[in-house]
Amino acid sequence: MELREVATDVYACLQEDRGLGYSNSGLIKRGSGLVVDTFWDLGHTRELIKHYERVRSQPPGYVVNTHHNGDHCWGNQLFPEAEIIGHRLCAEAMLKERPEAMQAVRDAGSSPDPALAAMAERLSDWDFSGIELAPPTRLIEDRLSLDLDGVPVELIYVGPAHTQGDLIVHLPEQRVVFSGDILFRLCTPIGWEGTYAHWFSALDYIVGLEPEIIVPGHGPLCGVEGPNEMKAYLEYVYSESKRFFEAGLSTLEASVKIELGPYADWTEPERLLFNVERAYRELRGEPFDAPIDALMLFRNMHELYVLRGWDRRKP
Ligand SMILES: [Zn+2]
Repeated sequence: MELREVATDVYACLQEDRGLGYSNSGLIKRGSGLVVDTFWDLGHTRELIKHYERVRSQPPGYVVNTHHNGDHCWGNQLFPEAEIIGHRLCAEAMLKERPEAMQAVRDAGSSPDPALAAMAERLSDWDFSGIELAPPTRLIEDRLSLDLDGVPVELIYVGPAHTQGDLIVHLPEQRVVFSGDILFRLCTPIGWEGTYAHWFSALDYIVGLEPEIIVPGHGPLCGVEGPNEMKAYLEYVYSESKRFFEAGLSTLEASVKIELGPYADWTEPERLLFNVERAYRELRGEPFDAPIDALMLFRNMHELYVLRGWDRRKP
């Protein structure tokens, strides 16, 4: 975990991308102080707070959640003095992901089911005990403008792209964007509720803001090359998926055949299957928030991983 000053009074706390859940956070230390996203468990969030206390002794007045996935909000309870801000749909969805269920998967390391055992092994760095969900209480529809002692902060709804309640945080004067999981950098994206079209336009929107620095939801800092490359990946996966959908292949069969080319070094390559599945859902005409059988998808991702002989890139 590393604290970086990305502009005057603006920080990013970056976790090295070691797989599932290694997300990034941000701090604007002006005015009452604002934190963008907390981490996936209490231990990692306590470490995050220690980093922020090095540059600002008082707790922040605001925590913004970019979306409802636990790796961006399950540390919220450690900011009891902050007003928690998020999109209305983020707040609704947050209560549906249960830390107890995730802890049960994490503890299934000796399961005879190889997909479950692999998942448990990937969660072994995390401890989901003691988490009490603290969803946003100040809700956004389209946009909210804040002023932190002269620093304008724009919270902008760009979903449904990665999830239904996606927000980005834009600092127009500092030319910084905290993208949440609209952007995964050098890391294969995964999408839940949303559409390819919205994800493309959200990435284009970020590029149009002309930021100098983007703090992605996962992976290292970047400029606009980040959203441009991720859009190219999603466009490529969508067009390949369409080709294989029309040829009658299953999502697993298609995912085995799709060449990753310039994206082959991105972490978590097996998420390709998740992205193919999303394309197939759209091609079948299903709504963006159709229920996802996540367990089946994680099983197929495991199978894809084995079939393609990928190495787990975990140090
Ligand atoms: Zn995430």
